[in-house]
Amino acid sequence: MNIILLGPPGAGKGTQARILVEQRNMVQLSTGDMLREAKSSGTEMGNRVAEVMARGELVTDEIVIGLIEEKLSGDIGGGLIFDGFPRTLAQADALSELLERNGQSLSCVVEMQVNDAELVHRITARSTCASCGEGYNDITKPVPADGACSNCGSTEITRRADDNADSLRQRLLEYYKKTSPLIGYYYAKGMLKRVDGLAEIDEVAASIKKTLDRT
Ligand code: AMP
Repeated sequence: MNIILLGPPGAGKGTQARILVEQRNMVQLSTGDMLREAKSSGTEMGNRVAEVMARGELVTDEIVIGLIEEKLSGDIGGGLIFDGFPRTLAQADALSELLERNGQSLSCVVEMQVNDAELVHRITARSTCASCGEGYNDITKPVPADGACSNCGSTEITRRADDNADSLRQRLLEYYKKTSPLIGYYYAKGMLKRVDGLAEIDEVAASIKKTLDRT
């Protein structure tokens, strides 16, 4: 089963993808994580995209399609979760072609619905353990008082460079201009499923599970 998690920044795509990896042995393909990795390893491509990402703009279709293409030939375990990809119609078309070429197909697209005020609230409050990826929120799930990750004990808790008010405004604009048309695109293809992304993490996970079990 190969799925797309679709939703604006802060909708909880990464959190839910990690749950699906644990529950279903699926493989998470996050273009945002791949780009951040390229950025921190200082590759030429990483340096090229760093400024674009810091501004909250989208990097070129060519770069992200190339990143996804590289991963499709690897082990796909219990199926692929596309997290943060596709973000444009051109990427969506490229994904169908790439999957077909690899003898795969898309099972469904899960749209995580949230409202904009909640997004801003969530993003400006979030931080992540640099070691294991556990997510925290200043209000709903604060980092333990000793500053150590409750999952792995690391004290390296980081905030994303693009989780600031200016970048976030641009990321939301990019989402509404370039990514939200994918909702209609996948609806028309009969592949769109919707879940309430504003519920508690476990409830969202349960809704996604129900949706996937029915697919
Ligand atoms: P994310 O971690 O998914 O929020 O992505 C962080 C940033 O990486 C985005 O704001 C974009 O600059 C870039 N990015 C991630 N995925 C894509 C994509 N599919 N297309 C274009 N840019 C992307």
